[in-house]
Amino acid sequence: MKTFDVAIAGGGLIGGSIALELARAGLRVGLFDRQEPGLEASWASAGILSPAPESPAMIGMVPLGKASMALYPEFAQMVEELSSQSVGYRAKGTLEIVTSRYAREELSTIIALHHGLGLKAEPLSAADARELEPNLREDIEAAVLRPAEASVDNRSLTRAIVLSARKSGVEVFANQRVEKIWREGDICEGLITSTEKVSAKHTVIAAGCFSAQIQGVEQYAPVVPAKGQMISLRCAQARIERVLWGDEIYLVPRNDGRVLAGATVEYAGFDKTLTAGGQRKLLNAAIDLVPAFEKAQVEEAWAGLRPDSPDHLPILGPTDLQGLIIATGHFRSGVLLTPVTARLIREWITLENVSLQWDRFSPMRFEAARKQTHARAN
Ligand SMILES: Cc1cc2nc3c(=O)[nH]c(=O)nc-3n(C[C@H](O)[C@H](O)[C@H](O)COP(=O)(O)OP(=O)(O)OC[C@H]3O[C@@H](n4cnc5c(N)ncnc54)[C@H](O)[C@@H]3O)c2cc1C
Repeated sequence: MKTFDVAIAGGGLIGGSIALELARAGLRVGLFDRQEPGLEASWASAGILSPAPESPAMIGMVPLGKASMALYPEFAQMVEELSSQSVGYRAKGTLEIVTSRYAREELSTIIALHHGLGLKAEPLSAADARELEPNLREDIEAAVLRPAEASVDNRSLTRAIVLSARKSGVEVFANQRVEKIWREGDICEGLITSTEKVSAKHTVIAAGCFSAQIQGVEQYAPVVPAKGQMISLRCAQARIERVLWGDEIYLVPRNDGRVLAGATVEYAGFDKTLTAGGQRKLLNAAIDLVPAFEKAQVEEAWAGLRPDSPDHLPILGPTDLQGLIIATGHFRSGVLLTPVTARLIREWITLENVSLQWDRFSPMRFEAARKQTHARAN
């Protein structure tokens, strides 16, 4: 039987980065993935690093996002040094385009919201925005520059993290599906994979939107898949420098000249089919924002499954089973939240104390809600 200090289910950005942090802290770590690590949401993502909330429901996540953003430059550099691979970190800011007739009012609301949350945001006139990004459509009304935001090539980052983890001593087991946790009373003793029992003092569930399929974990990690379709474009005549946010789309430039356009949000189970409607929506919105993309070459199209939780917030921390820790539910922000998640889980395991308030992300919040509903029903 294999024995580790920490056994991790899932080798995406979250499981991989936790494994890396713990190995660097001197722990013996086993990382188990049901396929080659890093081929699910972490591969499919756009790689935008933005702590700005996309909806009111996400406001609770802003402090976590800001903390992760602050860790990113050092984290990216550490992974690049360990793996000797580039992760395509681009700290060029992002530009939110305003097209409504009520641009002035909209702009002041957006700026006030950002400043209230301690996020940098600058109002720009249409002319100033087009000076920064000359390929934007001509009739925009205004824009908001978020100079502290960035992006990363998530596929490169995921590969580099798993390689860095291996080089730091993590034992990586591909094609080892975790079937259930190994539970003895109120203690989690490790994992049970398709082929063996794995003993570990700490067990971390980081299997993305598949986490709830692992037996014994469902009540702590009730995640569902939220499908996102993406397209990659290449157009020598229309380069963009920054991430651009339109009403219906975001466009993310990569260092190699590609521009990623995304993404749909669809609740369609574990289905990654590309649909004509989804692809049309992305292409129309991309051409609408940057008209020269009409001539762009469509290089690739794909879909991935985000791990979404009932309140759309991440699920992080210990459970009422001794030794069982959850790290999932990162929904649309898992790339952003990778460094802070790895740090918090490492702090919890090595110090039993964390440097950031994380109670609202506790896996126990669903159990508490379930008990309340049950009590009311009786
Ligand atoms: C289209 C799209 C765009 C996105 N854009 C952004 C963005 O711009 N910025 C951002 O911050 N976030 C973005 N996200 C979200 C982000 O990609 C995810 O939140 C993040 O990748 C989740 O990482 P993860 O490691 O938890 O999950 P995953 O990457 O899904 O990894 C889970 C791993 O667990 C493995 N696994 C599953 N079941 C088992 C099992 N039973 N046993 C063992 N292993 C198992 C899988 O094989 C996989 O390797 C986007 C997501 C999508 C789909």
